[in-house]
Amino acid sequence: MKIVVLKFGGTSVGSIERIKNVVKIIHSYHKKKYKLIVVSSAMSGVTNDLIKKSKKISNNFSPEEYDVLLSSGEQVSCSLIAARLNHIGLKSRSWLSWQIPILTKGLHKNAKIISIYKNRIIKYLKEGGIPVIAGFQGVNLNNRVTTIGRGGSDSSAIMLAKFFGAKRCIIYTDVEGVYTTDPNKLKNAKKIKVISYEEMLEMASLGAKVMQPISIQDARLNRINIEVKSSFKKKTGTLITKRKNILSSKIIAGISSTQNDAKVTLVGVKDKPGVAAMIFKPLSKNLVNVDMVVQNISANGKETDLTFTIKTEDLGKTKKIINANKNIKFRKILLKKDVSKVSIIGVGMISTPGVTFRMFQALAKKNINIQVISTSEIKISVLIDKRNTKKALVALHNEFKLED
Ligand code: ASP
Ligand code: MG
Repeated sequence: MKIVVLKFGGTSVGSIERIKNVVKIIHSYHKKKYKLIVVSSAMSGVTNDLIKKSKKISNNFSPEEYDVLLSSGEQVSCSLIAARLNHIGLKSRSWLSWQIPILTKGLHKNAKIISIYKNRIIKYLKEGGIPVIAGFQGVNLNNRVTTIGRGGSDSSAIMLAKFFGAKRCIIYTDVEGVYTTDPNKLKNAKKIKVISYEEMLEMASLGAKVMQPISIQDARLNRINIEVKSSFKKKTGTLITKRKNILSSKIIAGISSTQNDAKVTLVGVKDKPGVAAMIFKPLSKNLVNVDMVVQNISANGKETDLTFTIKTEDLGKTKKIINANKNIKFRKILLKKDVSKVSIIGVGMISTPGVTFRMFQALAKKNINIQVISTSEIKISVLIDKRNTKKALVALHNEFKLED
Protein backbone atom coordinates (compact mmCIF):
# COMPACT_ATOMS: atom_id res chain seq x y z
CA MET A 1 0.00 0.00 0.00
CA LYS A 2 1.42 3.36 -1.00
CA ILE A 3 0.65 5.37 2.11
CA VAL A 4 1.34 9.09 2.39
CA VAL A 5 1.02 10.94 5.71
CA LEU A 6 -0.13 14.54 5.39
CA LYS A 7 0.15 16.65 8.51
CA PHE A 8 -1.37 20.10 8.88
CA GLY A 9 -0.23 22.59 11.49
CA GLY A 10 -2.35 25.01 13.48
CA THR A 11 -2.12 27.97 11.10
CA SER A 12 -2.85 25.75 8.11
CA VAL A 13 -6.21 24.85 9.69
CA GLY A 14 -6.58 28.21 11.44
CA SER A 15 -9.92 29.20 9.89
CA ILE A 16 -12.82 27.71 7.96
CA GLU A 17 -11.37 29.09 4.71
CA ARG A 18 -8.02 27.52 5.48
CA ILE A 19 -9.60 24.17 6.28
CA LYS A 20 -11.35 24.26 2.91
CA ASN A 21 -7.98 24.94 1.33
CA VAL A 22 -6.38 22.05 3.20
CA VAL A 23 -9.09 19.78 1.88
CA LYS A 24 -8.17 20.85 -1.66
CA ILE A 25 -4.59 19.81 -0.95
CA ILE A 26 -5.76 16.44 0.38
CA HIS A 27 -7.93 16.02 -2.69
CA SER A 28 -4.96 16.60 -5.00
CA TYR A 29 -3.08 13.69 -3.38
CA HIS A 30 -6.20 11.55 -3.48
CA LYS A 31 -6.39 12.04 -7.25
CA LYS A 32 -2.87 10.61 -7.49
CA LYS A 33 -4.21 7.36 -6.00
CA TYR A 34 -2.24 7.52 -2.80
CA LYS A 35 -3.64 6.01 0.38
CA LEU A 36 -3.76 9.00 2.67
CA ILE A 37 -3.42 9.34 6.41
CA VAL A 38 -4.19 12.91 7.45
CA VAL A 39 -3.00 14.25 10.80
CA SER A 40 -4.08 17.59 12.14
CA SER A 41 -3.11 19.98 14.87
CA ALA A 42 -5.68 22.18 16.61
CA MET A 43 -6.72 25.43 14.93
CA SER A 44 -4.10 28.04 15.79
CA GLY A 45 -4.55 29.67 19.16
CA VAL A 46 -6.95 27.02 20.44
CA THR A 47 -4.49 25.07 22.57
CA ASN A 48 -3.17 28.25 24.17
CA ASP A 49 -6.70 29.32 24.87
CA LEU A 50 -7.49 26.01 26.56
CA ILE A 51 -4.42 26.43 28.78
CA LYS A 52 -5.68 29.85 29.82
CA LYS A 53 -9.05 28.36 30.69
CA SER A 54 -7.44 25.64 32.79
CA LYS A 55 -5.58 28.28 34.78
CA LYS A 56 -8.76 30.20 35.45
CA ILE A 57 -10.47 27.10 36.80
CA SER A 58 -7.68 26.04 39.11
CA ASN A 59 -3.98 26.48 39.64
CA ASN A 60 -4.01 22.86 40.64
CA PHE A 61 -5.57 21.40 37.49
CA SER A 62 -4.85 17.69 37.46
CA PRO A 63 -2.58 16.50 34.64
CA GLU A 64 -5.17 13.89 33.63
CA GLU A 65 -7.90 16.48 33.13
CA TYR A 66 -5.42 18.88 31.54
CA ASP A 67 -4.74 16.33 28.81
CA VAL A 68 -8.44 15.73 28.19
CA LEU A 69 -8.93 19.47 27.89
CA LEU A 70 -5.90 20.19 25.69
CA SER A 71 -6.50 17.30 23.31
CA SER A 72 -9.96 18.64 22.49
CA GLY A 73 -8.61 21.20 20.04
CA GLU A 74 -7.52 18.48 17.63
CA GLN A 75 -10.94 16.81 17.84
CA VAL A 76 -12.53 19.97 16.43
CA SER A 77 -10.12 20.44 13.51
CA CYS A 78 -10.20 16.75 12.55
CA SER A 79 -13.96 16.61 12.41
CA LEU A 80 -14.10 19.80 10.35
CA ILE A 81 -11.58 18.41 7.86
CA ALA A 82 -13.34 15.05 7.62
CA ALA A 83 -16.74 16.69 7.17
CA ARG A 84 -15.41 18.94 4.43
CA LEU A 85 -13.89 15.91 2.68
CA ASN A 86 -17.35 14.31 2.88
CA HIS A 87 -18.82 17.52 1.50
CA ILE A 88 -16.77 17.20 -1.68
CA GLY A 89 -17.78 13.55 -2.01
CA LEU A 90 -14.86 11.73 -0.43
CA LYS A 91 -15.15 9.01 2.17
CA SER A 92 -13.54 10.23 5.35
CA ARG A 93 -13.92 10.23 9.13
CA SER A 94 -12.07 11.58 12.13
CA TRP A 95 -10.14 9.26 14.45
CA LEU A 96 -9.28 10.18 18.00
CA SER A 97 -6.27 8.39 19.38
CA TRP A 98 -8.24 6.07 21.71
CA GLN A 99 -10.29 4.89 18.74
CA ILE A 100 -7.23 3.58 16.89
CA PRO A 101 -5.61 3.30 19.52
CA ILE A 102 -2.34 5.24 19.66
CA LEU A 103 -0.69 4.03 22.85
CA THR A 104 1.55 6.24 24.93
CA LYS A 105 3.58 5.78 28.05
CA GLY A 106 5.06 8.26 30.49
CA LEU A 107 3.78 11.30 32.30
CA HIS A 108 0.70 13.21 31.33
CA LYS A 109 1.36 16.41 29.33
CA ASN A 110 4.53 14.83 28.03
CA ALA A 111 3.78 11.24 27.12
CA LYS A 112 5.53 9.34 24.39
CA ILE A 113 3.95 7.29 21.60
CA ILE A 114 5.05 3.67 21.98
CA SER A 115 2.78 1.86 19.58
CA ILE A 116 -0.02 2.35 17.11
CA TYR A 117 -2.56 -0.34 16.30
CA LYS A 118 -2.87 -0.61 12.59
CA ASN A 119 -5.81 -2.93 11.93
CA ARG A 120 -8.72 -0.51 12.02
CA ILE A 121 -6.96 2.15 9.98
CA ILE A 122 -5.71 -0.34 7.40
CA LYS A 123 -9.22 -1.73 7.03
CA TYR A 124 -10.56 1.79 6.62
CA LEU A 125 -7.91 2.63 4.01
CA LYS A 126 -8.76 -0.53 2.09
CA GLU A 127 -12.40 0.54 2.03
CA GLY A 128 -11.24 3.73 0.33
CA GLY A 129 -11.56 6.00 3.36
CA ILE A 130 -9.35 8.92 4.31
CA PRO A 131 -8.71 8.78 8.05
CA VAL A 132 -8.18 12.18 9.69
CA ILE A 133 -6.26 11.50 12.85
CA ALA A 134 -5.96 13.81 15.83
CA GLY A 135 -2.33 14.72 16.41
CA PHE A 136 -0.83 15.54 19.79
CA GLN A 137 -2.86 12.96 21.71
CA GLY A 138 -2.69 9.35 22.80
CA VAL A 139 -4.16 6.98 25.30
CA ASN A 140 -2.24 5.20 28.06
CA LEU A 141 -2.51 1.74 29.57
CA ASN A 142 -4.88 3.12 32.24
CA ASN A 143 -7.20 4.10 29.42
CA ARG A 144 -6.65 7.81 30.07
CA VAL A 145 -6.21 10.38 27.34
CA THR A 146 -2.69 11.79 27.17
CA THR A 147 -0.90 14.54 25.25
CA ILE A 148 2.65 14.32 24.01
CA GLY A 149 4.06 17.81 24.59
CA ARG A 150 3.44 21.18 22.95
CA GLY A 151 3.92 21.12 19.22
CA GLY A 152 3.63 17.34 19.40
CA SER A 153 1.45 16.80 16.35
CA ASP A 154 4.61 16.66 14.21
CA SER A 155 5.70 13.69 16.29
CA SER A 156 2.27 12.11 15.82
CA ALA A 157 2.72 12.34 12.06
CA ILE A 158 6.23 10.92 12.18
CA MET A 159 5.18 7.99 14.36
CA LEU A 160 2.21 7.26 12.09
CA ALA A 161 4.58 7.29 9.10
CA LYS A 162 6.81 4.87 10.95
CA PHE A 163 4.15 2.39 12.05
CA PHE A 164 2.36 2.39 8.70
CA GLY A 165 5.57 2.30 6.65
CA ALA A 166 4.49 5.43 4.77
CA LYS A 167 6.28 6.30 1.55
CA ARG A 168 6.19 9.99 2.37
CA CYS A 169 5.53 12.18 5.39
CA ILE A 170 4.65 15.73 4.47
CA ILE A 171 4.39 18.44 7.09
CA TYR A 172 2.30 21.37 5.91
CA THR A 173 2.96 24.58 7.79
CA ASP A 174 2.94 28.36 7.39
CA VAL A 175 6.48 28.72 6.09
CA GLU A 176 7.84 27.46 2.79
CA GLY A 177 10.52 25.32 4.38
CA VAL A 178 13.79 25.59 6.20
CA TYR A 179 16.02 28.54 5.32
CA THR A 180 19.78 29.01 5.34
CA THR A 181 19.19 31.58 8.03
CA ASP A 182 16.16 33.36 9.49
CA PRO A 183 14.57 35.18 6.51
CA ASN A 184 13.25 37.80 8.94
CA LYS A 185 16.82 38.69 9.81
CA LEU A 186 18.40 38.36 6.39
CA LYS A 187 16.62 39.03 3.12
CA ASN A 188 19.05 36.86 1.16
CA ALA A 189 18.22 33.77 3.18
CA LYS A 190 17.53 30.89 0.83
CA LYS A 191 15.23 27.95 1.12
CA ILE A 192 17.20 24.76 1.66
CA LYS A 193 16.18 21.94 -0.68
CA VAL A 194 17.62 19.06 1.32
CA ILE A 195 19.03 18.98 4.83
CA SER A 196 20.20 16.13 7.04
CA TYR A 197 18.51 15.23 10.32
CA GLU A 198 21.65 16.17 12.21
CA GLU A 199 21.88 19.62 10.64
CA MET A 200 18.16 20.19 11.12
CA LEU A 201 18.44 19.18 14.77
CA GLU A 202 21.13 21.78 15.31
CA MET A 203 19.19 24.42 13.40
CA ALA A 204 16.05 23.70 15.42
CA SER A 205 17.84 23.64 18.75
CA LEU A 206 19.42 26.94 17.84
CA GLY A 207 16.14 28.58 17.09
CA ALA A 208 14.88 27.73 13.59
CA LYS A 209 11.26 27.29 14.59
CA VAL A 210 10.02 25.13 11.74
CA MET A 211 9.86 21.93 13.78
CA GLN A 212 10.75 21.09 17.34
CA PRO A 213 13.96 19.15 17.99
CA ILE A 214 12.14 16.18 19.55
CA SER A 215 10.17 15.38 16.41
CA ILE A 216 13.27 15.67 14.24
CA GLN A 217 14.97 13.24 16.57
CA ASP A 218 11.98 10.87 16.21
CA ALA A 219 12.32 11.10 12.44
CA ARG A 220 16.05 10.52 12.59
CA LEU A 221 15.79 7.46 14.81
CA ASN A 222 13.11 5.96 12.58
CA ARG A 223 14.67 7.04 9.29
CA ILE A 224 11.52 8.84 8.14
CA ASN A 225 12.00 11.40 5.36
CA ILE A 226 10.13 14.58 6.15
CA GLU A 227 9.02 17.11 3.60
CA VAL A 228 8.21 20.50 5.07
CA LYS A 229 6.14 22.82 2.90
CA SER A 230 3.66 25.65 2.99
CA SER A 231 -0.07 25.02 2.80
CA PHE A 232 -0.53 28.53 1.43
CA LYS A 233 1.84 28.47 -1.53
CA LYS A 234 2.31 25.77 -4.11
CA LYS A 235 6.08 25.47 -3.92
CA THR A 236 8.58 22.75 -3.18
CA GLY A 237 9.65 22.81 0.42
CA THR A 238 12.57 21.30 2.29
CA LEU A 239 13.37 17.61 2.55
CA ILE A 240 14.83 16.45 5.85
CA THR A 241 16.59 13.14 5.34
CA LYS A 242 19.65 11.05 6.11
CA ARG A 243 23.08 12.30 5.12
CA LYS A 244 23.57 9.61 2.50
CA ASN A 245 20.72 11.03 0.43
CA ILE A 246 22.33 14.43 0.18
CA LEU A 247 24.42 15.16 -2.86
CA SER A 248 24.95 18.86 -2.25
CA SER A 249 28.53 20.01 -2.16
CA LYS A 250 27.78 22.74 0.36
CA ILE A 251 30.00 22.64 3.41
CA ILE A 252 27.62 24.71 5.47
CA ALA A 253 23.87 24.15 5.40
CA GLY A 254 22.77 27.07 7.48
CA ILE A 255 23.57 29.78 9.96
CA SER A 256 21.63 30.53 13.11
CA SER A 257 21.76 33.28 15.65
CA THR A 258 20.31 33.64 19.10
CA GLN A 259 18.73 36.58 20.85
CA ASN A 260 18.61 37.44 24.51
CA ASP A 261 21.82 35.77 25.58
CA ALA A 262 23.99 36.99 28.42
CA LYS A 263 27.53 36.16 29.45
CA VAL A 264 28.85 35.52 32.95
CA THR A 265 32.56 35.38 33.76
CA LEU A 266 34.00 34.33 37.08
CA VAL A 267 37.50 35.72 37.33
CA GLY A 268 40.05 33.95 39.50
CA VAL A 269 38.27 30.69 40.27
CA LYS A 270 40.32 28.05 42.09
CA ASP A 271 41.70 25.55 39.59
CA LYS A 272 40.97 22.27 41.31
CA PRO A 273 38.65 19.28 40.76
CA GLY A 274 34.99 19.76 41.51
CA VAL A 275 34.84 23.53 41.24
CA ALA A 276 32.92 23.63 37.97
CA ALA A 277 30.43 21.09 39.30
CA MET A 278 29.98 23.19 42.42
CA ILE A 279 29.21 26.25 40.30
CA PHE A 280 26.74 24.60 37.93
CA LYS A 281 24.88 22.32 40.34
CA PRO A 282 22.84 25.07 42.05
CA LEU A 283 22.21 26.70 38.67
CA SER A 284 20.73 23.54 37.22
CA LYS A 285 18.73 22.97 40.40
CA ASN A 286 17.22 26.41 39.88
CA LEU A 287 16.46 25.66 36.25
CA VAL A 288 18.96 28.09 34.81
CA ASN A 289 19.85 26.79 31.39
CA VAL A 290 23.58 27.12 30.81
CA ASP A 291 24.65 27.11 27.18
CA MET A 292 28.27 27.76 26.17
CA VAL A 293 30.92 27.07 28.79
CA VAL A 294 34.61 27.85 28.51
CA GLN A 295 37.32 27.58 31.04
CA ASN A 296 40.85 28.62 30.34
CA ILE A 297 43.82 26.52 31.40
CA SER A 298 45.28 28.29 34.35
CA ALA A 299 48.54 30.06 33.78
CA ASN A 300 49.82 29.77 37.32
CA GLY A 301 48.26 26.39 38.13
CA LYS A 302 46.11 27.93 40.87
CA GLU A 303 43.47 30.10 39.36
CA THR A 304 41.49 30.26 36.17
CA ASP A 305 38.60 32.18 34.59
CA LEU A 306 35.32 30.53 33.80
CA THR A 307 32.83 31.95 31.32
CA PHE A 308 29.36 30.72 30.44
CA THR A 309 26.25 31.98 28.73
CA ILE A 310 22.63 31.96 29.85
CA LYS A 311 19.38 33.57 28.79
CA THR A 312 19.22 37.25 29.73
CA GLU A 313 16.09 36.74 31.81
CA ASP A 314 18.08 34.41 34.10
CA LEU A 315 20.85 36.93 34.71
CA GLY A 316 19.58 38.34 38.02
CA LYS A 317 18.78 34.91 39.38
CA THR A 318 22.19 33.58 38.34
CA LYS A 319 24.04 36.42 40.00
CA LYS A 320 22.17 35.81 43.25
CA ILE A 321 22.79 32.06 43.17
CA ILE A 322 26.50 32.49 42.55
CA ASN A 323 26.99 35.14 45.18
CA ALA A 324 25.11 33.01 47.70
CA ASN A 325 27.19 29.94 46.87
CA LYS A 326 29.57 29.53 49.81
CA ASN A 327 31.32 26.63 48.11
CA ILE A 328 33.07 28.66 45.47
CA LYS A 329 35.65 31.39 45.66
CA PHE A 330 36.48 33.84 42.91
CA ARG A 331 37.88 37.31 42.67
CA LYS A 332 35.32 38.99 40.50
CA ILE A 333 32.10 38.32 38.64
CA LEU A 334 31.54 40.02 35.26
CA LEU A 335 28.08 40.13 33.72
CA LYS A 336 27.35 41.14 30.16
CA LYS A 337 23.97 41.41 28.48
CA ASP A 338 23.35 41.78 24.78
CA VAL A 339 25.53 39.08 23.35
CA SER A 340 24.46 36.78 20.55
CA LYS A 341 25.56 33.31 19.59
CA VAL A 342 26.08 32.88 15.87
CA SER A 343 26.56 29.34 14.61
CA ILE A 344 27.41 27.80 11.29
CA ILE A 345 26.05 24.31 10.81
CA GLY A 346 26.97 21.69 8.26
CA VAL A 347 28.00 18.05 8.06
CA GLY A 348 30.42 19.10 5.33
CA MET A 349 32.77 20.55 7.90
CA ILE A 350 33.65 17.05 9.13
CA SER A 351 35.56 16.35 5.94
CA THR A 352 36.60 19.87 4.97
CA PRO A 353 39.59 21.49 6.63
CA GLY A 354 39.78 25.22 7.18
CA VAL A 355 36.14 25.96 7.97
CA THR A 356 36.94 27.40 11.38
CA PHE A 357 39.58 29.61 9.87
CA ARG A 358 37.23 30.87 7.19
CA MET A 359 34.59 31.71 9.73
CA PHE A 360 36.99 33.61 11.97
CA GLN A 361 38.56 35.42 9.06
CA ALA A 362 35.21 36.49 7.65
CA LEU A 363 34.28 37.95 11.03
CA ALA A 364 37.67 39.57 11.52
CA LYS A 365 37.40 41.31 8.16
CA LYS A 366 34.22 42.95 9.43
CA ASN A 367 35.92 43.88 12.67
CA ILE A 368 33.69 41.64 14.72
CA ASN A 369 35.25 40.54 17.96
CA ILE A 370 34.75 36.93 19.05
CA GLN A 371 34.22 36.54 22.78
CA VAL A 372 33.66 32.81 23.18
CA ILE A 373 34.00 29.89 20.79
CA SER A 374 32.49 26.44 21.00
CA THR A 375 32.41 23.66 18.47
CA SER A 376 30.85 20.28 17.88
CA GLU A 377 31.36 17.86 15.03
CA ILE A 378 29.00 19.72 12.72
CA LYS A 379 28.73 23.18 14.25
CA ILE A 380 30.92 26.14 15.15
CA SER A 381 29.44 28.78 17.42
CA VAL A 382 30.86 32.14 18.36
CA LEU A 383 29.61 34.62 20.88
CA ILE A 384 29.65 38.20 19.67
CA ASP A 385 28.23 41.57 20.57
CA LYS A 386 24.54 41.54 19.75
CA ARG A 387 24.88 44.74 17.69
CA ASN A 388 27.02 42.81 15.20
CA THR A 389 24.61 39.93 14.62
CA LYS A 390 23.26 41.10 11.29
CA LYS A 391 26.73 42.01 10.03
CA ALA A 392 27.98 38.55 11.02
CA LEU A 393 25.09 36.80 9.30
CA VAL A 394 25.76 38.71 6.09
CA ALA A 395 29.49 38.03 6.22
CA LEU A 396 29.09 34.32 6.88
CA HIS A 397 26.29 33.90 4.39
CA ASN A 398 28.62 35.35 1.75
CA GLU A 399 31.70 33.49 2.89
CA PHE A 400 29.99 30.10 2.60
CA LYS A 401 28.11 31.05 -0.56
CA LEU A 402 24.70 30.19 0.83
CA GLU A 403 22.84 32.48 -1.52
CA ASP A 404 23.77 30.56 -4.66
N1 ASP B 1 -2.06 21.80 19.29
C1 ASP B 1 -0.90 21.35 19.98
C2 ASP B 1 -0.07 22.52 20.47
O1 ASP B 1 -0.36 23.64 20.20
C3 ASP B 1 -0.06 20.42 19.16
C4 ASP B 1 0.57 21.02 17.93
O2 ASP B 1 0.25 22.11 17.49
O3 ASP B 1 1.45 20.36 17.37
O4 ASP B 1 0.90 22.31 21.14
MG1 MG C 1 1.87 23.53 16.13
